[in-house]
Amino acid sequence: MPEVPPTAELQHHIQALAACRKCPQMRSTPVSGGPVRSKVMLIGQAPGVREPLMGRPFAWTAGKTMFKWFWETVGISEAEFRVTVYMAAVCRCFPGRGSQGGDRVPSRQEIENCSTWMQAEFALLKPELVICVGRLAIGRFVEPLPPLHDLIGKLFPAVRWGHRFDLVPLPHPSGASPWPRIEPGKSLTRTALELIRDHPAWRSRTDFPRQESHGIPADSG
Ligand code: SF4
Repeated sequence: MPEVPPTAELQHHIQALAACRKCPQMRSTPVSGGPVRSKVMLIGQAPGVREPLMGRPFAWTAGKTMFKWFWETVGISEAEFRVTVYMAAVCRCFPGRGSQGGDRVPSRQEIENCSTWMQAEFALLKPELVICVGRLAIGRFVEPLPPLHDLIGKLFPAVRWGHRFDLVPLPHPSGASPWPRIEPGKSLTRTALELIRDHPAWRSRTDFPRQESHGIPADSG
C-alpha cells in the first residue's frame, strides 16, 4: 500500500507537537509517529522510557508484541504499519516511573493538556477507524469502562469532537497483564484484529483523491 505525502497542515502540526512543553512533570520531550496521512489512527497510552530515545512510538517490547499481532492476523509489517497508520497517544511524553515501579499514570491535567493535540489530529485527519490500545486510551472514548472481555473483539460506533468513526479497542501489549495471552483474551484479541483487517477504512486507509494528497497545487512545479 503506497504512502501518501502529508499535507502542509499535518507537517506543521507535527512540528508544533514536537515543541510542546506544557506538562512540567513529564520526563521526555514528545514522541510522534510523524505526519502520516491515513484514515486509520492508532491511539496508545504514553511512551515508555525507550521511545523518546528511539524517536518513535511503540519502539520497544510492547511494540514488538503489538506489531507481531498485526503481522500474524492482519498481514501488515511494522514498516508498512508505520507509514500507513497515524500513531497518536493519550500523552505524547514519557511520564516517568510511578511509585509502584511501572510507568507513572499521567495525571488528569496532563491528559487534558495533551487532548488538544488529539483534537487537532481528528480535525486534520478525520479518521474513519480508531484503534485504541490499552485501558487508558480506550477510556478516553468509552465511559464507563467495562471489563476487557466486554470491550475487546467489538466495534463501537463513536462520535468525538463532532466527528463520527468506528472504534476498535485492543488490550495493551506490554506484557504486564497476561490477559491477551490466555483465553478468552487471546481469542478476543484475534477477533479485534480481524475487525480491523476487514474494516473498509483499513483497506483504503491511504486512498485519497490525488489533488488532496499534497499541500501544494499539483501544477506548482
Ligand atoms: S504530554 Fe502532551 S501536552 Fe504534555 S508536554 Fe507532552 S506533548 Fe505537551
